[in-house]
Amino acid sequence: MDNYDLIVIGAGPAGYAAAIRGAQLGLKTACIDKSVGKNGKPTLGGTCLNWGCIPSKTLLDVSHKYAEAKERFAGFGIEVGDVAVDVPRMIANKDAVVAQLTGGIGALFKGNGVTALAGHGQLLSRKRVLFTPHEGEPATLSAEHVVLAPGSIPVEIPPAPQDGARIVDSTGALEFDAVPPRLGVIGAGVIGLELGSVWGRLGSNVVLLEALDEFLPMADARIGREALREFGRQGLDIRLGTRVMGAEALDGGVQVAYQDKNGDHSVTVDKLIVAVGRRPFTDGLLAPDSGVHIDERGFLYVDDLCATEVPDVYAIGDVVRGPMLAHKGMEEGVMVVERIAGHKPVVNYDCVPSVIYTHPEIAWVGKTEQELKASGEEVKVGAFPYAATGRALAAGEKTGIAKVVADAETDRVLGVHIFGAQASELVAQAVVAMEFAATAEDLALTMCAHPTLAEAVHEASLAVSGNAIHMVNRRKR
Ligand SMILES: Cc1cc2nc3c(=O)[nH]c(=O)nc-3n(C[C@H](O)[C@H](O)[C@H](O)COP(=O)(O)OP(=O)(O)OC[C@H]3O[C@@H](n4cnc5c(N)ncnc54)[C@H](O)[C@@H]3O)c2cc1C
Repeated sequence: MDNYDLIVIGAGPAGYAAAIRGAQLGLKTACIDKSVGKNGKPTLGGTCLNWGCIPSKTLLDVSHKYAEAKERFAGFGIEVGDVAVDVPRMIANKDAVVAQLTGGIGALFKGNGVTALAGHGQLLSRKRVLFTPHEGEPATLSAEHVVLAPGSIPVEIPPAPQDGARIVDSTGALEFDAVPPRLGVIGAGVIGLELGSVWGRLGSNVVLLEALDEFLPMADARIGREALREFGRQGLDIRLGTRVMGAEALDGGVQVAYQDKNGDHSVTVDKLIVAVGRRPFTDGLLAPDSGVHIDERGFLYVDDLCATEVPDVYAIGDVVRGPMLAHKGMEEGVMVVERIAGHKPVVNYDCVPSVIYTHPEIAWVGKTEQELKASGEEVKVGAFPYAATGRALAAGEKTGIAKVVADAETDRVLGVHIFGAQASELVAQAVVAMEFAATAEDLALTMCAHPTLAEAVHEASLAVSGNAIHMVNRRKR
């Protein structure tokens, strides 16, 4: 029986980060992953690299360039003539990016001495793992420590059974071979908005059917309202408070029946994306006597340090509580193995940034104004429009705001919310500030290069105390 210091099941961002860090720390490490890529060969990187963050951002970035060239360049004085999209080449470019990055994980495994095992892993009792390779005989491995990182999969809903061709999940929506003239998306959350944006920019008429009455309830309320207006202006037809009753692929398209407060409706589309969320994936992961438990929502039960009830067995990433985000899983992976090696890091769950990669982007860290007020906390708020930021105007990116929420008494920053170009990059400065328990004044005293979009966050932090320079302050000192 092969014996390891560390066996990781799952080579998504949570698992591969754990495996690489474990090997760096001198642990004899194996990482088991069952994923097979588009080319039929084993692939590393999990959902994030193969079917999630990276392919979706590739299509988002490329479709954004297309939309800019088609709709905005002329306004800047750049004539490009007819702009056309070649979807198969766009998908091939996306596949090349995925191949480069998944291959990169293989190289990092090799370079750090991680043994990559292609196949299925199952946790048995007493820290043993049953490894069933894609080819060959199953083997039982043993380890001093086991980390479970099996990730998540898309939620399916009975009214919209997927056929993999016209009714698809997020993975299928990354593989269309042509722009669907009419596109339906069930779910106007992060993934629905991003995929709707990709195909909308390329020419689809996009209808998003969202069950909730409120748009993006997890985001800052003002930003949610402004984003809804902006996405509507871009042509995304977002219908809130709708309940999908059925979807049927017919000759003329996919007929989607739904209800809202006004009654029954239907809409016909060429493709339908089901993007109603993801669920933890634990199929076949645990032998009956493994000792690890699944909670009532399907997540593996862990404590604050990602330890399961079984000593030396940990679980990280999408399969445990907390936001289903690649960077959250990576931090957990590194934290867990560093603790195994005797260090004492913790994951600061109050400082996990969230991003929606629409254009403009929406990004935030910490709590929203409405959330804090609802829990009785007294806050002060500063907001600054992109339209008053020189760099935003220079770049033709005047839509958006930056908003800083601070404790009314201590001035400590409790949340930063940004709607605007490059919000995903700007939020990093807010994460650093919050990680170091900065006050709004600290942020306001921190210099930004001029002209930059980061100045919007700087001015918002000045506005918390009524001291913004480049707008008239509503709150006077
Ligand atoms: C379209 C889309 C866009 C996204 N965009 C973003 C984004 O921009 N930013 C962001 O932070 N997050 C994004 N996410 C979410 C992100 O992909 C996940 O949060 C992240 O991949 C979770 O990492 P993980 O390591 O926990 O699991 P995964 O990435 O899901 O990896 C788990 C791996 O384990 C393997 N596995 C499972 N069970 C077993 C087993 N028993 N034996 C062997 N192998 C097993 C799986 O096959 C998989 O390869 C996106 C997701 C989607 C679908």
